[in-house]
Amino acid sequence: MSHQLHPFPGGLHLPGNKGLSTDRDLATAAVPPTLIIPLQQHIGAPAKPLVAVGDRVLKGQILATPEGYVSAPVHASSSGTVIAIEERPVPHPSGLAAPSIVIETDGEDRWIEHNGHSDYASLDPSELRNIIRDAGIVGLGGAGFPSFIKLNPGARTEIDTLILNGAECEPYISCDDMLMREHADQVLLGARIMRHALHARQCLIGIEDNKPEAIAAVQKALQHLDEKEIQVVEIPTRYPTGGEKQLIKVLTGKEVPSQGLPIDIGIVCHNVATAASVYRAVERGEPLISRIVTVTGHGAARPQNLKVRIGTPIRDLLQAAGGDNSKPYTLIMGGPMMGFTLDSEALPTTKTTNCLLLATEEDIPSRGPVNPCIRCGECARVCPALLLPQQLYWHARAKDFDKAQDYNLFDCIECGCCTYVCPSNLPLVQYYRFAKTEIWAQERERKAADKARERHEFRQFRIEREKEEKAARHKTKAKAVKKDAAADEKKAVIQAAMERAKAKREAAEVQPKNTENLSEAQKRQIEEAETRRAAKTDNPAEQASEENK
Ligand code: SF4
Ligand code: SF4
Repeated sequence: MSHQLHPFPGGLHLPGNKGLSTDRDLATAAVPPTLIIPLQQHIGAPAKPLVAVGDRVLKGQILATPEGYVSAPVHASSSGTVIAIEERPVPHPSGLAAPSIVIETDGEDRWIEHNGHSDYASLDPSELRNIIRDAGIVGLGGAGFPSFIKLNPGARTEIDTLILNGAECEPYISCDDMLMREHADQVLLGARIMRHALHARQCLIGIEDNKPEAIAAVQKALQHLDEKEIQVVEIPTRYPTGGEKQLIKVLTGKEVPSQGLPIDIGIVCHNVATAASVYRAVERGEPLISRIVTVTGHGAARPQNLKVRIGTPIRDLLQAAGGDNSKPYTLIMGGPMMGFTLDSEALPTTKTTNCLLLATEEDIPSRGPVNPCIRCGECARVCPALLLPQQLYWHARAKDFDKAQDYNLFDCIECGCCTYVCPSNLPLVQYYRFAKTEIWAQERERKAADKARERHEFRQFRIEREKEEKAARHKTKAKAVKKDAAADEKKAVIQAAMERAKAKREAAEVQPKNTENLSEAQKRQIEEAETRRAAKTDNPAEQASEENK
């Protein structure tokens, strides 16, 4: 069935050079003596170790658990003993080190017990997402974003289309091509599970037309699968068709809004290798412990694609690909357009290592001297994001980052088309990366300053509140003391009155003199007086009050 395609702006036709590595069959790299497994191979927080030095671990065993929502666990990619948990250099443009778990392998490659689910359709999408999260699956197309998050559209968002990215548009890289050729069934079964998790109406698998074997393999596998809603779409080879926004445009004609996400327009995009990993996690119970890596370039003696255990040192892979062929080369992770240089072969393979390019002068010719911008506009003509690269360059160079953002710096996908065509040899993408890094650093500093201010304000508030509480306690105590004093005073007055009454009573018991020969009237007056006195003596408080008048 034909599918209407929609061209994206800009882009380039580049020499693919993929035949270098696809001429040989997919092979499996040997278990290395040592595995170095970084705790952060994904976008988000690093994982937290669950093992200690000296622990014996089995293949597939979880080594570190996610910390926070945007994070992913890491697993042992072979059996052995943990010999170190320490900072190790990792393959990253920053060149920084990261905490890593180092395993000395035992050569047994013994699996931990694991079980899959034979009927994925009986599982709720949330159960599927949990399996995918626990398997440590991240985007294998390069970014390394935890996949379970992209498979969670939320209750209110409807997903129309799941796109599987099999474009692999960057020259030299052929790991997805080989995966589709050799494991098309896994890609399709993963697509089916993902579509179920997203409730997506359809799934489109976009593959560039320079991969006829992969297209044929996936189409053949599709015939065996009763899935009418999955479609393989052959797309024109044009760099960077594999960019998420570009592929969406080509396949659906829809534009992802600036600073927006595909999900905003009802689309979710995953890499074909991610889909195959989802299949292995759900139906076989296998976590993400290996991937296909292209080892290529004219610096490699035997360029080819290898199935590699995550954590395998790069040097072991270069040896597996026949070592170098004595030509001087620059080691690049990724392709010639978007890759970055590595300064050591001791670095480990990670979940996002798609290609190791041993680039000689033949692969990436030296660029001439850098000259001033001549405002030729070539960079804008090829920009697939419709940006003005020369403006971005000027503002990034002047460190006017606000202006750079006004020119939509963050819509730049760093495809390198502008750098490739610039007649002045300006390293444009390096400037954009620098500007983005500076802006993120400023943002982090601003957030840190906001947090520090909040902490200071809260401390001040706490001190004030404690002062007020202390004052209130003093006031209450003083009131209580005053009340007690008043009560004591009243008690003393009553006591004095009682003592006086007692004294009077005792005096009254003495026989009064001159009481003989009294008239009847005198006797009555005396009796009345006695009665009144007796009444007052019975109520000392009244008596005290009378006396105080
Ligand atoms: S291609 Fe280079 S020289 Fe031409 S406008 Fe762009 S930055 Fe300037
Ligand atoms: S690197 Fe950025 S600015 Fe240059 S062409 Fe690509 S998207 Fe445009």
